Amino acid sequence: MQPTALPELTTDVLVVGSGASGLTAALTAADQGSKVLIIERGHLFGGTSATSGGTIWIPNNHLIAPAGGVDSEADAEQYIQALAGEFSSAEKIRAFVANAPRMFRYLDEKTDVKFETLEKYCDYHPELPGGKPGYRSCQALPIDCDVLGGEFESLQPPHVGTTAFGRINWTAREAHPLITQSKGAKQIFLKIAAKYYLDVKQRWKTTRDRRLTGGGALVARLRWSLKKRKVPLQLSTELVELCREGGRIVGAWVLNNGTPQRIRARQGVILAAGGFERNAEMRAKYLPGPTTPAWSAGNPFNTGLATIAAMQVGARTANMDSAWWAPGYKLADEDRARPMFVERSLPGSIMVDGAGQRFCNEAASYHVTGGLMAHGHRAADGGTVPSWFIFDARYRGKYALGPIFPGPPSFDRSIRPSMRAILRSAGSVGELAEAIGVPKENLVATVNRFNRHAETGVDVDFGRGDGLYDRYYGDPAVTPNSCLAPLLKAPFYAIPIQPCDIGTNGGMVTDENGQVIDESGASLEGLYAVGNCAASPMGKSYPAAGATLGPGMTFGYLAALHATR
Ligand SMILES: Cc1cc2nc3c(=O)[nH]c(=O)nc-3n(C[C@H](O)[C@H](O)[C@H](O)COP(=O)(O)OP(=O)(O)OC[C@H]3O[C@@H](n4cnc5c(N)ncnc54)[C@H](O)[C@@H]3O)c2cc1C
Repeated sequence: MQPTALPELTTDVLVVGSGASGLTAALTAADQGSKVLIIERGHLFGGTSATSGGTIWIPNNHLIAPAGGVDSEADAEQYIQALAGEFSSAEKIRAFVANAPRMFRYLDEKTDVKFETLEKYCDYHPELPGGKPGYRSCQALPIDCDVLGGEFESLQPPHVGTTAFGRINWTAREAHPLITQSKGAKQIFLKIAAKYYLDVKQRWKTTRDRRLTGGGALVARLRWSLKKRKVPLQLSTELVELCREGGRIVGAWVLNNGTPQRIRARQGVILAAGGFERNAEMRAKYLPGPTTPAWSAGNPFNTGLATIAAMQVGARTANMDSAWWAPGYKLADEDRARPMFVERSLPGSIMVDGAGQRFCNEAASYHVTGGLMAHGHRAADGGTVPSWFIFDARYRGKYALGPIFPGPPSFDRSIRPSMRAILRSAGSVGELAEAIGVPKENLVATVNRFNRHAETGVDVDFGRGDGLYDRYYGDPAVTPNSCLAPLLKAPFYAIPIQPCDIGTNGGMVTDENGQVIDESGASLEGLYAVGNCAASPMGKSYPAAGATLGPGMTFGYLAALHATR
């Protein structure tokens, strides 16, 4: 790159990316007395983190025991090890387990990032040794957007799928009864809707809810804390190249609103720039196909630039074929895919492949079901890309499915055109098979078999509803199995679903301090990678709600402590 038009900047720590991992790193470094600069490629800050549910998984944290839960480092380590296997390292897992509670306590006690523990949100595989029925997943407490002042307008808005009716913010605690139509749902709905619609001052200005929850609350609280420490966040500034002197990374070339600038970092560069989910070439090269960036629910700026820059200075990568998967769909009038986190568990629905056959326990975690679709696609057998999500009129009447609000079939014409464009319906299962192009006799046989099992409450084929996590998003009013009901009532509906993702999770190999390892196995002094641009300490697994943000923030904290030591 040619000498810059902008004068060189010098800082102690340069943080690349303004998601939760980067902001946690920046906050920690600032509290160590270092001068910190955060750069963000987009014109909005917060990355995918701000658009997320904002649940963070912190085993053995200090809020668990007072809330009545039990946990230990040994249990957490055993659980992660069982899931991550050969795709992570024992050192990284241990570093996460030992330091996640420290990071969490630091934020909770020394900053404005306050949390609550979700006592009923169980791990995704609670039956494994060390798995737990709740408490480890936590959420930042809601906060008023006014704490950010004018910067609120630069905060990424929530993903439409993480809000009620596409606009009202809700916490995980509030969302659960509304999704599953269980006790207290009506009161919660009235409370959050009244708060939203009676906020005349805010409604006058914007449709955005002033009460930030989930990822919005997490990022706003991090940024609020950083503002109090006067840490600058420079938007529209992207890393393009890392600078190396004498074997050490000493800074980076960036494009600041399109103009080159060199930034010197005396203590280190912390890459927190997300995954490569929005890079078509990298997806084609690394992820199982067929695949496209349109199937990602991640931030459109996450195109792997930091990973590429690190590879150019010799960084080693791992698990590049892996993502945080989720079955989902993309609507033509939205800029990101809609992952189906919960809809698959509710009774009266199934997923089938191109041959019209079920291939999984639909109520297993989105990572497991989406991963089966991505890695298990065999076109010759009908294929899982796309698969079909099938439900009947009773399901349609009771539960929400993205922009389809519960209602009778007579309301179908009021469904948003972009959703109607992918929705198919028919008066019988056989006709539905013809409408979606799967073998009729197979789909009819699949639904008949599923219905027989659903009546008994036992899914002998895939065990849907057997596990505690399956039932977390089941409908408690449906017995004997809250995840199972026969598909009996016409019309029958289908939407095509893809192996969507909420970010990739392979990337730079790092050590227990988040420091990048090079091809020779040595540490790249001065360079750190955290969050989705690093190979996850969870390997290719997704142990629980918050298992992407929790490790990202923990290694952000560790990287900052190491760089500023
Ligand atoms: C709908 C949805 C719900 C989710 N819910 C949860 C949840 O509840 N819990 C959980 O753990 N995970 C959740 N996830 C996943 C989680 O949000 C991501 O895994 C996580 O946010 C990744 O954090 P990060 O800090 O690595 O990256 P990000 O938050 O994406 O931040 C990366 C930032 O880096 C910027 N950037 C990229 N390239 C450059 C560059 N070259 N220079 C400068 N800046 C750059 C990007 O613009 C972006 O702002 C969810 C995801 C989605 C889509």
